[in-house]
Amino acid sequence: MATTGSWLGKLAGAAGEAKARAASEKAERLAAPSILRPNEITGEYDASRLLMTTLGGEIRPLTHDDLAAFRRNVGTAQKRLKGGITARKVLDLSWADDRNRAQSQIRQAVPMSASNGRVRFVTSAGPDSKVSRHHVTVEFMSFGASVSAGSKTPLQAAGWLRKQPLKFDCDCERHTFWFRYISTIGGFNAGRAETGFPKIRNPGLSGVGCKHVLRVMAEVESAGTVALFLSKVIARGRENDDGNAKVRQAQRDAEAQLAANKRPREIKTTTDRQKAAAAARERRALAQAVTANPSKPKKPTAATRRMAGGGMNKAQLALLAKMGLSEQQIAAINAAGK
Ligand SMILES: [Zn+2]
Repeated sequence: MATTGSWLGKLAGAAGEAKARAASEKAERLAAPSILRPNEITGEYDASRLLMTTLGGEIRPLTHDDLAAFRRNVGTAQKRLKGGITARKVLDLSWADDRNRAQSQIRQAVPMSASNGRVRFVTSAGPDSKVSRHHVTVEFMSFGASVSAGSKTPLQAAGWLRKQPLKFDCDCERHTFWFRYISTIGGFNAGRAETGFPKIRNPGLSGVGCKHVLRVMAEVESAGTVALFLSKVIARGRENDDGNAKVRQAQRDAEAQLAANKRPREIKTTTDRQKAAAAARERRALAQAVTANPSKPKKPTAATRRMAGGGMNKAQLALLAKMGLSEQQIAAINAAGK
């Protein structure tokens, strides 16, 4: 598995590669014979088409009851996704399996180029993939606002921008067959719109991002290098009155970023973050309690060590005598120190 930049290849030509993949995917989709179309979901389905579904767990011909269930699932998904999606929300709504795969298999992602708010990322591919890299497009919906907000430095504006709603797309099969329909009905699809309900792969319409998208979202949310890249695009947008901000990542910069980023960033949901914060609070509270009320005896000081066994040192005894205490009193104090 590629852990550093060896998977990256040449950035020059990567945009062409992404376009070619999108075109061949579109051609395949148009030729696909068993798409369940929107007008069929709403009731115009002819059962003689014998389309299949896995709703309920097993593959079988779909019925009109299934269509009603699909309509309900669309309504539920649209409610859940109302108001668009942010990088954090993509992570939160994803399947744990996809997050685990993103964590263990897709260890790196890097922005390659930007045209205004539309940023192309490349990620490494999983161990069983036919390709060495994948293309994830992220469209930052509030890019115009981040350029116009002159009270913020470009870097501050980038920090704000990466928490705002976005759209995304990935060229992999999981995104295509499981999630592209969801991003289309949720209004955050940044590639080819998918109108065919995923009746076989994902009839419950759960999850939202493949492992490549999740890796990119984790970087969008937290990576300093992504903030820096976005700040360059914002700065370019502020320089150009025609609103045409294009930035290209240099090959050597991308390679340097990947080489510096050997340990993959953790893929964390809001719940993961809350748990980590609670654990940290507990650790701090415990540390404070130990300091205020030590359960272990402190290491004895030199003076205490001398007192142990009943002995005060000569200077201490002399001091007590100087203070006018009798020998008996001094002996009693000395004994009490045992
Ligand atoms: Zn993907």
